[in-house]
Amino acid sequence: MKHILALDQGTTSSRSIVYNERLEVVASAQKEFTQHFPLPGRVEHDALEIWESVLSTAREAISRAGITPSSIAAVGITNQRETVVVWDRKTGEQVHRAIVWQDRRTSEAMSAFREAGREQLVQHRTGLLLDPYFSASKLSWILQNIPDGQARAESGELAAGTIDSWLIWKLTGGSSHVTDVSNASRTMLMNIRTGGWDPDLLRLFNIPGSILPRISPTSGDLGTVDASHFGTAIPVRSAVGDQQSALFGQLCTRPGLVKCTYGTGCFLLAHTGTDAVASANRLLTTVAWQIGDQPLEYAVEGSVFMGGAAIQWLRDGLGIIKSAPEVNTLASGVPDSGGVYLVPAFTGLGAPYWDPDARGTILGLTRGSTSAHIARATLEGIAFQVADLVAAMEKDSGKKISVLRVDGGACASDLLMQIQSDLLGRTVERPVNIETTALGAAMLAGLGAGIWPDVDALSKIRSVDRRFEPTVTATNRHARLKTWKRAVKRARNWEA
Ligand code: ADP
Repeated sequence: MKHILALDQGTTSSRSIVYNERLEVVASAQKEFTQHFPLPGRVEHDALEIWESVLSTAREAISRAGITPSSIAAVGITNQRETVVVWDRKTGEQVHRAIVWQDRRTSEAMSAFREAGREQLVQHRTGLLLDPYFSASKLSWILQNIPDGQARAESGELAAGTIDSWLIWKLTGGSSHVTDVSNASRTMLMNIRTGGWDPDLLRLFNIPGSILPRISPTSGDLGTVDASHFGTAIPVRSAVGDQQSALFGQLCTRPGLVKCTYGTGCFLLAHTGTDAVASANRLLTTVAWQIGDQPLEYAVEGSVFMGGAAIQWLRDGLGIIKSAPEVNTLASGVPDSGGVYLVPAFTGLGAPYWDPDARGTILGLTRGSTSAHIARATLEGIAFQVADLVAAMEKDSGKKISVLRVDGGACASDLLMQIQSDLLGRTVERPVNIETTALGAAMLAGLGAGIWPDVDALSKIRSVDRRFEPTVTATNRHARLKTWKRAVKRARNWEA
């Protein structure tokens, strides 16, 4: 039996999972790492601690699986996206802590670019909107804030990359400086149509091309793990951004197939085939993946900042529940939200609003309102935000999304999924395996290693746990969506 080692490097923890050829989980290990918040709005990770957490969980997973490392046909990597690391090519040491996707330190620089009329160029080349979220402005910040950064970058002393790139460098003992095209598409430096670094964007952000990794297909030859790490050399056969990996893990591999991941935030991605479809509704266009030498495949993406995190707020901020799953019992105690609406704009609103100045709002409170109504309004607030993304996607494509495939921790909530189906008027489909992120990387690595001949060979892997069908009338849905829009209006521009 052959195995695949998937390395899932997330924002708060690293997980390593050993799969067998049938894509069953043989063993796994997980480790959290430190979040650094040096100043308000700043979020950093120690790249060395990330690497050590990946290496130690990988070793632990292999040992728990009780397999010989030589049976591992391939390593697959999936990772938190946009977070950027700069390191010294000679010593292999980071020159600054990694700047995390959540970090807002380059907000002003991005506003200045917007005011200077750069957004159109950036959106056209990269499919992204000018926002500190993406890697380019963070990379530029590091080069300008370490001693002689720009000169050291230009002389070839430094290397940079997203987390996949950093991990592959470490895994291969510094012999591969490479990233995959899905990760590169989130840097704001790659032309998503050509799949190459864009000279105009490098100039705009003042990034010397020599500091960047080679861009590789998502599934292919990304280097060989040095034998010193696991006792034997193992090929790295995939690297893929976490959301694109979940899209693949849900087998959304044909145009029109859509998934939503309900984690801390919610991420809705629709596969659009080999066309990069520009959004007229402020969604992002991104590379889904590239398999071997086949053409690039694309997705449109919308993200909600507060998804499951809103439930955590009920637990940690309000203290009306003791654990996340308790929200379901509490909210089930009432038949509806009793007219209460909660807009989870705690950190602003993401797509399609992109309003950093919006703030969380609870509306419609009366003397009869209880914690159960607020709990229910919170679940509805998550589902309304996803419904807004689905509506934006349908407006863009002119096509109806008939089924939404769901995954992520909060999709375990039957109530949330039922509410989602009611508010969409669509089928919501939950697979048995909701851990689709690591699964996608394992599938892509197995394809790269030739374990399966093609994507079709994987179709038997996915099985459905439950389908949720709408239970409310269209009139009820439309009335609630209309009130939601009014609530969003009141939450917007609060900080301004
Ligand atoms: P991430 O990968 O972003 O850390 P996960 O996919 O692990 O997130 O999902 C965790 C989120 O899911 C948490 O925000 C938590 O509030 C929510 N969650 C977990 N279990 C449940 C449940 N049974 N019901 C509702 N929400 C849940």
